[in-house]
Amino acid sequence: MSSSNPRTPILIVEDEASIRAMLRFALERAGYACVEAATAAEARLRLAESTPALALVDWMLPDRSGLDLVREWKEDECHAALPVILVTARGEEADKLRGFECGADDYVTKPFSPRELLARIRAVLRRGQAQAPPPVLELDGLRLDTAAHRVSAGGQRLEMGPTEFRLLHFFLTHQDRVYSRAQLLDHVWGRNVYVEERTVDVHIRRLRKALAPSGHDRLVQTVRGAGYRFSSDG
Ligand code: CA
Repeated sequence: MSSSNPRTPILIVEDEASIRAMLRFALERAGYACVEAATAAEARLRLAESTPALALVDWMLPDRSGLDLVREWKEDECHAALPVILVTARGEEADKLRGFECGADDYVTKPFSPRELLARIRAVLRRGQAQAPPPVLELDGLRLDTAAHRVSAGGQRLEMGPTEFRLLHFFLTHQDRVYSRAQLLDHVWGRNVYVEERTVDVHIRRLRKALAPSGHDRLVQTVRGAGYRFSSDG
């Protein structure tokens, strides 16, 4: 039996091209697929367009620290369940503890052997499978497939942008409650991102438009003076 799903995608966040290439080589040889990012900003983009099963995050990134990035993901509804292994050149005990405080599931210290890394990846993925959220979220025939990163209704695919996808994912996992624009910004955009509240309205409008072909736009309800609610009750 193969020890890893041949197509399990892993996100590599590492600014040094030679280390990234080494990681890709080792991971692909072990049967994983790789998505690469050289900066924290790029990692954010990759996460918006793909659904990795695990992320390897270098501690020292050019635009911000890997720790901050992981902390942001763990506070974000859409990415909190993404298992993370921090890759660090530092070996001090205090730093390891900080790694766990930020929510990383494990860490490896450079230099490490591919064999050690693969063993840690398998262990973290095994732990994650035991507590993974349902891969398909559904309401009234509207289906969001988290693994395929796809939304459909009645067998028809509904096209939407990455922000609308994240918004819908949040709504499907938080139904029947009213959320203010500020709360939606915190949960869907992340606490460290500066976006104006009216941006929420723009993406709500786009989400409704994307859901309109199957009539599911009715699930996105405006609650006057309060915000938005996602519910199948009128
Ligand atoms: Ca680095």
